[in-house]
Amino acid sequence: MANQKTRKNGLTVLSLEDRFRFDCRPGISCFTRCCRDITIFLSPYDIIRMKNALGISSTEFLKNYTLTLIGDTGLPVVMLKMADNKEKTCSFLTDQGCRIYENRPWSCRIYPLQPESTKATEKAQKQYYSVMDVPFCQGLKADQTAAVKDWIESQGIGIYREMEALFKPIMTSQNLFATKITNPKIQDMFYMACYDLDRFRRFVLESSFLKVYQVDPEVVEKIKTDDVALYRLAMDWVAHGLIERQGLKIRPEVLEAKKQELGLK
Ligand code: SF4
Ligand code: SF4
Repeated sequence: MANQKTRKNGLTVLSLEDRFRFDCRPGISCFTRCCRDITIFLSPYDIIRMKNALGISSTEFLKNYTLTLIGDTGLPVVMLKMADNKEKTCSFLTDQGCRIYENRPWSCRIYPLQPESTKATEKAQKQYYSVMDVPFCQGLKADQTAAVKDWIESQGIGIYREMEALFKPIMTSQNLFATKITNPKIQDMFYMACYDLDRFRRFVLESSFLKVYQVDPEVVEKIKTDDVALYRLAMDWVAHGLIERQGLKIRPEVLEAKKQELGLK
């Protein structure tokens, strides 16, 4: 049902103004069929929203609801663990639907769309999407249609895109693909900063972190209770360490001491 659509390698690419068929509601014959036996990778912001919705720490959330894999770069990626039952249902599925619906992950929100971005579309700040081909999903056969831009807005995707914009440049950096990370300590630091934010908070406040890095006192106060502010600091720290981006500054006295230790002027 897409209009003004373009076909590229057999894929229908929709712009924000295009429309697609979709209608999902309780009572539809396939209701919650899509919440079983699926692979859902979680973004750092997904985890913030989900653990806060459940009222548990990130450490507890990761332990109880996720699996961790090592990606091509050697860095850990986190996926939702399906329940150990015959249908492999999502842990958050109830007879009435998703019990964390307001805080469901990005990939559940954006379904049935999936982003089709390239470096060129990102540079031009254009958004394109395709519609997923899921044979059992009756919603895709509906007469009802929605404009891509309205769907994106109605599903609360904006804040997820904003948060992902901090994480994606790190994950797609050429520096990472050049040398696969195999050091378990670096892998764990990355996992903590990206996914286990409550542990990262303790690390920042209780280790020598604040003696090494220059962090605005207002930010230090904010991160004690604000997960998004903490996530921003975490992304600066990871980018500083892994892709050498200058988001976070080392204190001058620490740099000076290091130079002297190395015998540099
Ligand atoms: S219509 Fe599609 S998205 Fe909605 S419940 Fe059925 S399978 Fe899931
Ligand atoms: S998080 Fe919610 S919407 Fe997503 S798969 Fe699980 S039950 Fe379904």
